[in-house]
Amino acid sequence: MIQPRLRVQQMPEYHPPLGSRDRLRLDFNENTLACSPAVKTALENISAADLTRYPEREPVEALAARQLGLEPNQVVLTNGVDEAIHVLCQAFLDAGDEMLLPVPTYTMYEIYAAATDATLRKVQAGADFQFPCEALLAEINARTKIVAIANPNSPTGSVATREQILATAQAAPGAVVLVDEAYFHFYGETVIDLVGQVPNLIVARTFSKAYGLAGLRLGLLAGPETLLRWVRRVLSPYSVNSIALAALTAALDDRAYLDWYVVQVKQARGEFLAGLTQLGLEYWPTEANFVLVNIGPAHKQFVASMREHGILVRDRSADPGCDGCVRITIGTPEQMRAALAAIQIYVAGVRA
Ligand code: PMP
Repeated sequence: MIQPRLRVQQMPEYHPPLGSRDRLRLDFNENTLACSPAVKTALENISAADLTRYPEREPVEALAARQLGLEPNQVVLTNGVDEAIHVLCQAFLDAGDEMLLPVPTYTMYEIYAAATDATLRKVQAGADFQFPCEALLAEINARTKIVAIANPNSPTGSVATREQILATAQAAPGAVVLVDEAYFHFYGETVIDLVGQVPNLIVARTFSKAYGLAGLRLGLLAGPETLLRWVRRVLSPYSVNSIALAALTAALDDRAYLDWYVVQVKQARGEFLAGLTQLGLEYWPTEANFVLVNIGPAHKQFVASMREHGILVRDRSADPGCDGCVRITIGTPEQMRAALAAIQIYVAGVRA
């Protein structure tokens, strides 16, 4: 029998709960509406001959870099941030190395680290889910090679401050500090301006959330050339396909659409959180396009009840420290009114 590497044998297969296209998907933190119409037009203009050629990443990388105020060699496009995490692990994690992770956080850091021969060191956040900065700093050691900080974090919506990120980068000079700004647009604060100045800082951005391009798989890493050159060695030159590249060019060009969608979500977020408060539900402050709600022991019934109303939400009760918690994506005001109405029915049923 042919066996894979031991670490791969020990890994579980990860199956996200996909497969419900006809319902309102508030379970993946996607854009719940659409991408820019300019993207649709760009896709329609792709010819059959265009598809015969291998994709060229560099021109679009240069475009993205310019928009971020960076040099072309400080940006690398990837097949979603997931691939970016994967290649960072491949490039930097050797046997005996450690990835340091505040938890709860995004699942894929752990999965890609598990596929290497490095070990994972987790730091549990407190009940307020604030970034556990001091505890994290205390766990940094000579073997720490990657520190992954989702900012805003998922599933909590909490954030690390610029000072906390800088303190982490300074305390771990031998480690890549990955600041995953997948939800940046709904927050507004960034450390991307520090790229190149802080030698061990790499920032990730995705086009799956605010831009509404999750289906095309587009992400990027912004970092000093001295680090990204190793990432480029591991990364396939073709992992971002030409359809995605055409779409990204159009998406980057349509700032107005992006801004419009973010305003929709922020308005909806304010209204929705106020609604949750009125219903007496406990939730954590959020800077992202989702909120973690403490439903309690009936979390499974809650998710099922929402599903009956055609709304999908994500049970996160198995995440560390998240017992009884459900994560709900924030979409447009109209969608969130529908979600709140469904929650109201559930709450009324429980209290009756
Ligand atoms: N980082 C975080 C914090 C996320 O929540 C997600 C998406 N769920 C990703 C990265 C993955 O993004 P992408 O679709 O670009 O792979």
